[in-house]
Amino acid sequence: MHGTADLHTHTIHSDGTLTSVELIKRAKSVGLSAIGITDHDSVNGIDEAIAAGKGDDIVVVPGIEMSTCLNEKEIHILGYFVNHHDQQLLESLEILRHERYKRAERIVKKLNSMNIPLKIEAVLDHAGNGSIGRPHIASAMVDEGHADSYQQAFGKYIGNGRPAYEKKMQCSPLEIIKLIAEAGGLSFLAHPGTYLTEAELIQIIEAGIDGIEVIHPSHDNGLVEYYRGIVNHYYLLESGGSDYHGGMKGDDSLLGQVTVTADAVEAMRRRLYLDAHTE
Ligand code: AMP
Ligand code: ZN
Ligand code: FE
Ligand code: FE
Repeated sequence: MHGTADLHTHTIHSDGTLTSVELIKRAKSVGLSAIGITDHDSVNGIDEAIAAGKGDDIVVVPGIEMSTCLNEKEIHILGYFVNHHDQQLLESLEILRHERYKRAERIVKKLNSMNIPLKIEAVLDHAGNGSIGRPHIASAMVDEGHADSYQQAFGKYIGNGRPAYEKKMQCSPLEIIKLIAEAGGLSFLAHPGTYLTEAELIQIIEAGIDGIEVIHPSHDNGLVEYYRGIVNHYYLLESGGSDYHGGMKGDDSLLGQVTVTADAVEAMRRRLYLDAHTE
């Protein structure tokens, strides 16, 4: 396979604004050969994306983004080539999405106690049938006139450590890496940036992570070189992408701008093939 791949994108099934079909059309128009769909705690957009990808001649890598917690830090893990019909995976995702709903209710309650009369229904309007996240709450707050901007909603109320912040359900990296492996997928540490100590990074590698998202809009050249060095040292795989949310966060021009070569997808396939044939 030739060309470029954007392996980190979101749809309406979590906090993106485009449907899978719209996203595939955009991917085609910006010249991508492959796209990874990585919604938070949901694989519900995958089948539609694969069907659309066939029509548009774009390879769709079935993926997911999941949240884990290590030493009170939130760490995101991407799963690629998961079997998106795997029963255990689907059941776990149902639970995680239900927990997200209950957390949104808790955040709304906290906002209400701060004299912000936001209703959960307004949040649900933004989330639709997708995994509910703080971006939906921020958008609802702006729409209802409770915040001046999306950024202000986070900065003043719902960002990490702000007064209406609530944690998500806590899972360890090991639990999530295991869940992804049992669904036949490969797990990648998402956008590690600068928030991990080296000891924590090694702990995650020892938990069985298959690769690192080296390329991400939040990584400067220095971080790319650093994580590429780690990938090579530990025989890991490299992934990357734009973390495109369909314009949700002013990222409208990002799709197709932050990419890896399609070789990264081939390397994942080879790793899965070898895993299956050396056990
Ligand atoms: P959640 O999964 O509900 O915890 O929401 C996390 C998402 O909210 C992240 O992917 C970010 O896009 C967004 N987010 C978190 N903190 C901020 C912030 N301070 N400003 C803007 N967006 C943020
Ligand atoms: Zn997101
Ligand atoms: Fe993330
Ligand atoms: Fe993401």
